[in-house]
Amino acid sequence: MSGAFDQLQARLIELAHDAILIRDLDSRVLSWNRGAETLYGWTEQEARGRVTHQLLQTRFPISREAVDQALVEQGSWEGLLHHLNRHGQQVIVESRQVLIRNGEEKTSSILEINRDVTERERLLQERADAQARALAFQASIRQMGEFLSLVSHELRTPVTALKTLVQLLARQAEHAAPESEPERVRRSKLLQRAEQQIDRINRLIEDLLDLSRLRAGKLELRLERGDLGAWAQDVVQGEMLAYPGRQILFEPATGPLLVLADPDRISQVLLNYLSNALKYAPATQPISVRVRQVEAWARVEVQDNGPGIPAEEQAHIWELFHRVPGIEVVSGAGVGLGLGLHLCKSLIERHGGQVGVESAPGAGACFWFTLPLVAS
Ligand code: ADP
Repeated sequence: MSGAFDQLQARLIELAHDAILIRDLDSRVLSWNRGAETLYGWTEQEARGRVTHQLLQTRFPISREAVDQALVEQGSWEGLLHHLNRHGQQVIVESRQVLIRNGEEKTSSILEINRDVTERERLLQERADAQARALAFQASIRQMGEFLSLVSHELRTPVTALKTLVQLLARQAEHAAPESEPERVRRSKLLQRAEQQIDRINRLIEDLLDLSRLRAGKLELRLERGDLGAWAQDVVQGEMLAYPGRQILFEPATGPLLVLADPDRISQVLLNYLSNALKYAPATQPISVRVRQVEAWARVEVQDNGPGIPAEEQAHIWELFHRVPGIEVVSGAGVGLGLGLHLCKSLIERHGGQVGVESAPGAGACFWFTLPLVAS
């Protein structure tokens, strides 16, 4: 009866997927099941008599002595072990070990059951690595944001001083007795160009500051009730004066379009759309600004005849620092940072509105935004 039972037990041990081994108190293998053969690559014959921690090059969580001590004092031990299999590959196991006392110290043995958790541990490690990388990335983004904010603040003062100096020089050049009229015109043109460049730097600085304010949740809107059509017309007239050589058309709405919004921020969005149209479309082509009502929304559109934007790029142009490859600045000077449209989207969405673009390569682009209409 007992012999049949022992046989049954031995078969069960062979069937188990876990590696089951019995070793003596010197850690020499006495028994090694099929699961151990599969996991470690040595047959029972090869493993028998070998010292397990030497054969498997075991890495213990604390030390081998600590495991042995727990076995002697508590009769059992559980924990993770790192082994190397026959082919030198790492195997991580969840190990459960019990000391089986056979009365006489010499005949005591240790029963060890090792479950392969290599894949689970690899996934856990991968997840931990990814989390660490994400945290490091967030920290560097935050540092970069703080750095940009600091630099922008520091740049503001000298650039403002520079603009005042250039304006002063321009005024002096107007009043100074000119050596000759052409020389006076040449100087005044140069100073005008210097002032335009300073304005461009100022706009970039303000965009960077807006970005850090938005990120820090510190961008405040000064909401007013007003006619979006009138605000848009002011912006367009300003650009017509600034760019007399360009054809900028304005198509007003049929009546006032009352919105509750920050007029400076809304003008900033329209100005950004317009300056992109001026930058990316050929100087010979007209630009149209339309204001109209669409259901419960006031809508502003800026249409240009520039290169257009491929469909797959249209969702990305609103992302921070995204610039469409192959689209070059063709008129006016200067390149951008890929910041403007990101700010436009954030600003309009903070007003409860939406932004978008309709475009196809070679067919120009129509950038639009909407704001909810309010009752008069
Ligand atoms: P940038 O300072 O680079 O102009 P924006 O955020 O304003 O930054 O625009 C992002 C990108 O979208 C631009 O770099 C350009 O590739 C593309 N883009 C914007 N406006 C137009 C336009 N009117 N026509 C074609 N491409 C445009």
